[in-house]
Amino acid sequence: MDMNPFSPTPPDWAEKATHAVPFCCPTCQASPQVATQVWLNRRAPVFLEGFSRRKWQEFYLCECETAWWGWSNDRETPEWLRERNARRDAAENN
Ligand SMILES: [Zn+2]
Repeated sequence: MDMNPFSPTPPDWAEKATHAVPFCCPTCQASPQVATQVWLNRRAPVFLEGFSRRKWQEFYLCECETAWWGWSNDRETPEWLRERNARRDAAENN
């Protein structure tokens, strides 16, 4: 079995993956951290309009055997937003 997430060829399980929003398993809501396999479609990045960065499809095979994918930019909160949330949380604790 090819476990390389950067493999140029998509694994068989990725072909029946469904687009999941939000960024977790659509069946059991597990986070991608518990996925048993991952594959990144780095061959076909999408350039975000107005941004100097790219997004790509990330495929996950969940431990419940559901195959799903999400856009890489849906995964992480941007740094500036994390900092703003942290400041707001700190203000609320005072
Ligand atoms: Zn699952």
